[in-house]
Amino acid sequence: MTYRREETVQIPESDLEGMSVDTLAVRAGQIRTDQLEHSDAIFPTSSFVYGSAAQAAARFGGDEPGNIYSRFTNPTVQAFEGRIAAMEGGERAVATASGMAAILSTCIALLKSGDHVVCSRGVFGTTNVLFQKYMARFGVETTFVGLTDLDEWSAAIRPETRMLFLETPSNPLCEVADLGALSRLAKASDAFLVVDNCFCTPVLQRPLELGADIVVHSATKYLDGQGRCVGGAVVGPHKLLEEVYAFLRSAGPTMSPFNAWVFQKGLETLPIRMRAHCDNALELALWLDQKDAVETVYYAGLESHPQHELARAQQSGFGGVLSFCLKGGREEAWRFIDGTRMISITANLGDVKTTVTHPATTTHGRLSPEDKERAGITENLIRLSVGIEAVEDLKTDLDRGFAALRA
Ligand SMILES: *Cc1c(COP(=O)(O)O)cnc(C)c1O
Repeated sequence: MTYRREETVQIPESDLEGMSVDTLAVRAGQIRTDQLEHSDAIFPTSSFVYGSAAQAAARFGGDEPGNIYSRFTNPTVQAFEGRIAAMEGGERAVATASGMAAILSTCIALLKSGDHVVCSRGVFGTTNVLFQKYMARFGVETTFVGLTDLDEWSAAIRPETRMLFLETPSNPLCEVADLGALSRLAKASDAFLVVDNCFCTPVLQRPLELGADIVVHSATKYLDGQGRCVGGAVVGPHKLLEEVYAFLRSAGPTMSPFNAWVFQKGLETLPIRMRAHCDNALELALWLDQKDAVETVYYAGLESHPQHELARAQQSGFGGVLSFCLKGGREEAWRFIDGTRMISITANLGDVKTTVTHPATTTHGRLSPEDKERAGITENLIRLSVGIEAVEDLKTDLDRGFAALRA
């Protein structure tokens, strides 16, 4: 194959067809320049130049494809987009400045005033605010339903329902929604099914293959996995993504080239990181389940979990997030958290470093007492985002938490 010096060269998609997500994570989407670099180049430039006035006119007129300005397109950002699209099995991806920008852009692209949304109750707190406060202000009403209750989803649908939105597994109680059933419901209702795939990533779950119309991501979590950048992505068919892209191009919450480069490199290790997260989380869930001080463990990998079989069928691993209730209340939960020494006390998740959170007073602190009770966010609940440290060392640190309970 010959490369023209002026061109950047993208490895043909057809060369990777049918390859596994492990391979796509490393190889898909790379744009190689005439320097023939082995790793991925970064293009930190706001704009691009042309060979002639005529070429500039052709670019602006849309007669010639190519870059104009990095709010529209940038090669590093396109490389990340190509990689995440291939991994999700989507026709196209659009990268965004954050996970929330991905969700907002999807809403603006798919919805108009008078439309109605059905959304699972346990979604990320800011997603809730987006629907309840901002979308409502622009004439889009949202009904919240229990994630796993198909009858409730069905009953909430109205003639003007245009979107079903959900996260699965849920945060922090690890409930699992039946994506196949919800996609059939969405199709029968002429609505789009939008899935926030942040917790599983395409390594563990590919919602588009199960019938979802759009997948959104907070790349801030597992896709980076090392806590460096904030970003997001929307993945789906060309037809819908063209609308998302048009909004981003006009409104501006695009991803920076530097962040795209970090995420692109992050994706290369995503499959092996996800397997390490899953192995550690399952081992800790089983271990916590045996502890006298623990009342309940929430993790879909446990056979006692109500959607264990569904999770086995729908996901290729159970994920890195688990929650558990201690015997007692807030005092015990805080004492346990403060007793750990290595594990980070933070609301962040999806990192190689294990984190511990008290949802009732942090991530879910703004919920009313009734909403907390309905969502199962009790004062004795603790969430772990299990990292990739040696599991024996995580047990050692968690045992310091258990020791603090007895002190
Ligand atoms: C963090 C998160 C978001 C928001 O992403 P940002 O990158 O923080 O904007 C959306 N959904 C889920 C499930 C998240 O965990």
